[in-house]
Amino acid sequence: MNCWHCERPAHGTCMFCGRALCKDCAQEMPHIVALYQNERNVYRAIVTAHALFCGICEPREDPIELPELK
Ligand SMILES: [Zn+2]
Ligand SMILES: [Zn+2]
Repeated sequence: MNCWHCERPAHGTCMFCGRALCKDCAQEMPHIVALYQNERNVYRAIVTAHALFCGICEPREDPIELPELK
């Protein structure tokens, strides 16, 4: 698979949309790996700070609500 941006061989894929990326074109973005509820029934998120990001697919900065999880 080649990089979405420059057509050179890719080193990884965007965590958010799956586009292939080389090291030069890849950007970084925090990514939620897992959600869990603590002992007080509050949802917490485990986040990786530097997930691969293609720079195109624009994941939202503000988390959306998921009322169906309640
Ligand atoms: Zn590239
Ligand atoms: Zn992407």
